[in-house]
Amino acid sequence: MTKICRECDEPTIEPIPVGLEPTLSCGGRVIYLCPPCLLDLGIVPLSQQPKGSLGYVPIEVTTS
Ligand SMILES: [Zn+2]
Repeated sequence: MTKICRECDEPTIEPIPVGLEPTLSCGGRVIYLCPPCLLDLGIVPLSQQPKGSLGYVPIEVTTS
């Protein structure tokens, strides 16, 4: 399934969930990165983060 990378805004066939983005409505959107951006940013994939840190996003969330 193709997702848009949060960092480079390019579609990636290998999206990696890295966090949850809070939205005004309930719930949140999953933030995906492509593998190169994940490496560039040194972000730990959501599946490898310790329990309890779900939703913690170690990148700046900017609104445009
Ligand atoms: Zn990317």
